[in-house]
Amino acid sequence: MHGPYSDGYAKSRVETPKASRYHGHMSHEPPRTYIGCCGAYCRTCRAFKDGSCKGCKLGYATGERDLAKAKCRIKVCCMNRGYQSCGDCPDLDTCDIIHSFHDKSGYKYRKYRESTQFIRQYGYEEYIRQANAWTNAYGKLGPPR
Ligand code: SF4
Ligand code: SF4
Repeated sequence: MHGPYSDGYAKSRVETPKASRYHGHMSHEPPRTYIGCCGAYCRTCRAFKDGSCKGCKLGYATGERDLAKAKCRIKVCCMNRGYQSCGDCPDLDTCDIIHSFHDKSGYKYRKYRESTQFIRQYGYEEYIRQANAWTNAYGKLGPPR
């Protein structure tokens, strides 16, 4: 959903009835499906909420989307390895794919990195608990209370 890593779904900002139906259907996916492999959080992302992006991982488990057609190298690698996000990956510290993304200039990329490392340290349940309060695909994270 971001620049060269887009899987193509975020390119069209036109909200169609079909996109809205798809979006509604996806609301039944397990909570972790809303976490982008890179550390973005789709559930609170504006592009996801307005229907212009289908989210990072939604629809693959049901066959509605085909991972072979995904353009994002992060997502392809992460999902092919069976991870929920790069926070699960033992190669996180040395991986050029994720580092070239997290090293991009811009606040949001620093937040995606922070999310990935938060997930690795504290796990998904705590991440989802805090991320559900955000108003965008990234936001504030703090030590579990
Ligand atoms: S991993 Fe998912 S959320 Fe992150 S840039 Fe790729 S498609 Fe977008
Ligand atoms: S950290 Fe790198 S190697 Fe590991 S799943 Fe993510 S993209 Fe793949």
